[in-house]
Amino acid sequence: MNYPLEVQAIRAAVPRLKFRTQAFIDGTFIQAQSGKTFTTENPATGKPLAQIAECDAPDVDRAVKAARKSFESGVWSRQKPADRKKVLLKFADLLEANAGELALLDTLEAGKPIGDCATMDIPDTISCIRWHAEATDKIYDRVSPTGPENLALVLREPLGVVGCVVPWNFPAQMVAWKIGPALAAGNSVVLKPAELTSLSALRMAELAAGAGVPAGVFNVVPGFGETAGQAIGRHPDVNLVAFTGSTEVGRYFLKYSAESNLKRILLECGGKSPQVVFADAPDLDVVANHAVSAAFWNMGENCSCGSRLIVHQKIRDELVAKVAKLAKTWKVGDPLDPRNRLGAMIEKPHLEKVLGYIAAGKAEGAKLVMGGKRILQKTGGYFVEVTMFDEVTNAMKIAREEIFGPVLSVIPFSTETEAVDLANDTNYGLAASLYTQDLNRAHRVARAIRAGTVSVNCFSEGDLTTPFGGFKESGFGGRDKSLWAHEQYTELKTIWMQLA
Ligand code: NDP
Repeated sequence: MNYPLEVQAIRAAVPRLKFRTQAFIDGTFIQAQSGKTFTTENPATGKPLAQIAECDAPDVDRAVKAARKSFESGVWSRQKPADRKKVLLKFADLLEANAGELALLDTLEAGKPIGDCATMDIPDTISCIRWHAEATDKIYDRVSPTGPENLALVLREPLGVVGCVVPWNFPAQMVAWKIGPALAAGNSVVLKPAELTSLSALRMAELAAGAGVPAGVFNVVPGFGETAGQAIGRHPDVNLVAFTGSTEVGRYFLKYSAESNLKRILLECGGKSPQVVFADAPDLDVVANHAVSAAFWNMGENCSCGSRLIVHQKIRDELVAKVAKLAKTWKVGDPLDPRNRLGAMIEKPHLEKVLGYIAAGKAEGAKLVMGGKRILQKTGGYFVEVTMFDEVTNAMKIAREEIFGPVLSVIPFSTETEAVDLANDTNYGLAASLYTQDLNRAHRVARAIRAGTVSVNCFSEGDLTTPFGGFKESGFGGRDKSLWAHEQYTELKTIWMQLA
C-alpha cells in the first residue's frame, strides 16, 4: 500500500493532492452546463475542500447520450470479453498505483479513518474491479434442452446504459461494487456520487480512461439527489439503475421507473442488523471484538452495522462489560491519524440526527452505558463518542430506526425463539450475526433469520464471491458482488431456431 503510515507524513501529503472537480462525460472533464458548482467540505474540520460541478438534468442527458453512443458503437459492449478484461485489469492496476491518493480523498471528504480507507476500502475497491474483470471471459451462455428440431440459445446480453447512484459512506468502494460488474458485462455507465463525496469517483473515472475504457463508457455526473439523481432515475434511455442508500430514496427510484420507461431497479438500502449472542457463545472476548467492529466500524455509518446486540440474560452483564472496555480503546479523532479508529460523522445535519437518536434513547428509558456526547468541537469537526445503551427494548426508536452512527443498543433475551423473534422484528433484513457453539442451533437460527447475509461466530459481510443485499425493506431487485451481480447487469435473450 503506497500511503505513508505515519500521521505527519499523511498530513504532509494532503496539500499535494490535486482534486478533480468537474463532471467526467464522454472521456473529458467538463463543467456543468449551468456553470454552477457546490462546495464539498471536510467533516473533520468543517472547512471547505473544493467546488464541484453541480450537474443537473441537461448534464445527465448529455452523459446518457454519450453512454448510449458508446454502447451502440460496440466499442465496449461488443468487444471480445478477454479484451474488456485486459482493460479492466489495467484499471485495477492503476487504482492500485494510486491507492494512497484514493484513500486520502475518501478520508478527507467522508471523515473516514485513514487506516480503514487504506487497508479496507481501497484494497476492496481494487479487488472488486479485478474480480469482475476476471469473470468477464469465464461466463458461458446456455443451450436449452429442446427437441432435435430446434436449437434454443439462452444468451446474456449487456443491458445498455446503466445509471448508478451511490452514497457517501464507502465512496470509492460503492463505485466499484456497481461499475465492476456493470462494465465487465459490457454496459456503459452514468454514475452520480453522493453530493458529499465526489472526489474519489471523479479520480476513478480518470484512471479508467487512462486504462483504456473508451470515451462515453464510464461517465460521472456529480450533483444533488433531487436533481441529478432524479434525472438518472427518470431518464427514458437509462436501462437500469443500481442504487445504494436509504430505503426512503430507494422507493423513489421504483416510482421514477414506473413513471418513465420501466427501467430495471436494483436497491441496496438500510439495515438494523441484529447480533444474537447465545449463552454458549464460544469466547466472549472474541464476541466482544466482533460486536465492537460490527457496531462502531466506519462510525456506524454502515448499512450492515450490527446496531442491535441481542444477548442472552445469563451472559449479558459480562458481555456488556467486555464490549464497553474494548469500545473505550476505539479512539475517536482526526481521521488522518492512523491511531484513530473512528473519524467524523459525515456532516453537521447527520451529527445532529445521531445526537437526536441518543436523546430519544435516554428519553425512552434506555440505560446509557457509555458515550452519548459530541466531542472535539474545537476542531470544527462532527465527532461523536462511541455510545452504548443497555436495557433497550425492541419497541424503542433506537432499536427500530437506522441511526447510522456509533450507537449500540443491548437487548436481552431468554429463549432461542425470543431471540429469533427479536432479530426478525424489524422492517429491515440486510445482515445478522449469531454466536453459539451448538452446530444445530447455528444452522437453525441462521436459516430462521430473515437477512441477506447471516454470519456465524463472527461479524462479516462475506467477500467478493458472495452476494450482498437485503431481505424486506433492505433491498430490491438484486445483489451486489459475486456472479449474481454480474448477471443482473445483463438482459436474458432467447434465440429459437427451427432446424428442420
Ligand atoms: P440517500 O439515500 O439520501 O442518498 C443516497 C444517494 O441517493 C445519494 O447519491 C443521493 O444524492 C441520492 N438521492 C438523494 N435523494 C434523491 C432523490 N430524491 N432522487 C434520486 N437520488 C437521490 O442517503 P443520505 O446520504 O441522505 O443518508 C440518509 C440516510 O440514509 C442515512 O442516515 C442512512 O440511514 C441511510 N443510508 C444508507 C446507506 C446504505 O449503505 N444503505 C448509505 C447512505 C445512507 P445526495 O448525496 O445529493 O443526497
